[in-house]
Amino acid sequence: MPASPRGIALLGSTGSIGRSTLAVLRRQPEHFRVVALTAGRNREKFEAQVTEWRPSYAALAGLRSDSRWPTGPGVLIEAATHPDADIVVNAVVGAAGLEATLAALRAGKRVALANKETLVMAGDLVAQAACAGGGEIVPIDSEHSAVLQCVTGRDDGLARLILTASGGPFRGWEPERVWHATVEEALQHPTWQMGNKITVDCATLANKALELIEAHYLFGLPYDALDVVVHPQSVVHAFAEFCDGSVLAQLGFPSMELPILYALTHPERLPDSGVRRFDPVAAGPLTFEPVRSDVFRSLEIGIAAGRAGGTAPAVFNAANEVAVSAFLDGGIPFGRISETIELTLEAHEPVPASSVDAVREADRWARAMAQQSVEQSC
Ligand code: NDP
Repeated sequence: MPASPRGIALLGSTGSIGRSTLAVLRRQPEHFRVVALTAGRNREKFEAQVTEWRPSYAALAGLRSDSRWPTGPGVLIEAATHPDADIVVNAVVGAAGLEATLAALRAGKRVALANKETLVMAGDLVAQAACAGGGEIVPIDSEHSAVLQCVTGRDDGLARLILTASGGPFRGWEPERVWHATVEEALQHPTWQMGNKITVDCATLANKALELIEAHYLFGLPYDALDVVVHPQSVVHAFAEFCDGSVLAQLGFPSMELPILYALTHPERLPDSGVRRFDPVAAGPLTFEPVRSDVFRSLEIGIAAGRAGGTAPAVFNAANEVAVSAFLDGGIPFGRISETIELTLEAHEPVPASSVDAVREADRWARAMAQQSVEQSC
């Protein structure tokens, strides 16, 4: 690690990943310093964070105006390109994170990426921005961090990835019961504590589709070489299979703090991560089962969008965001989430995702279409 602390810009500091990132940084003052913080609308939590960390830049992206801090979506780019930031942790939820990721990469920064929606919407543009500016993406998602840890130092021969999925709170439920599941039930994730949107994405398995698309862009494998297996204990985070049939896996008790720390230090490691050390006996039996893609339709719908390419993944993402938000607001039943996404994608004619404007246009179109579908079902 460099002698002087590396500057961190943290976008989405008040969220689940944002707070876990600050917990990681609190233990590593000699290695990192916070230079910029942004949150959405949670002024109270943000104020406490700014008081503790005293960043040179602080802003609230989700507000229109504020007497104390700059506001509006543009602040994400200002924080992401802050001259003192070496690493940008993008922990914003949803499509709002896209432009900040691109700007940080163009400015040559490392982006520790939790905001997977960025890669799903515009994987090729992200790669181009990294190439043009010299920046790099290091994933925070535990499955992708696991893969990165398995392949680092091994340049060739990666043949297949198997990402694990906890199966969510409705694993083993009858399809009819899943269709009518309540918001409260969907937010009871069995192994991870996360923000509401990703928790619902885990219950529908849309999260795994987003992760497969993310893996496709991060590791350059075709969709035929990307699989998912249900693993209720969430101890094995991913398997990486090499061309000779050897398989490596990365394990650990479920905690986002290790993947966050690794995204900051990759390819190096710090000795005192502070995370619970692994104990195979305490982990207990590890089990694996196939995905019920007939019940959790969002997975297959998302994979098909990934295969279609162009603007289809951005449409999948936007329709999912609208449908999840409608579900959380009590506007549609759980089962309507995947239907809304499917109807939106069926109506979409993908075009190349060759510019941010093309992606944003597809995103806008999909939101309007999904909203219409939600309103028709009310
Ligand atoms: P949360 O909902 O807990 O936090 C989201 C953060 O983004 C908050 O700080 C929120 O601000 C901010 N935010 C919300 N909307 C906007 C906006 N329009 N503009 C700018 N900032 C905004 O989400 P998570 O931390 O759970 O997830 C963040 C990302 O990380 C997602 O992409 C998710 O898929 C991914 N991820 C999360 C994991 C987890 O364990 N939570 C695991 C792996 C990936 P405020 O609250 O102040 O309004």
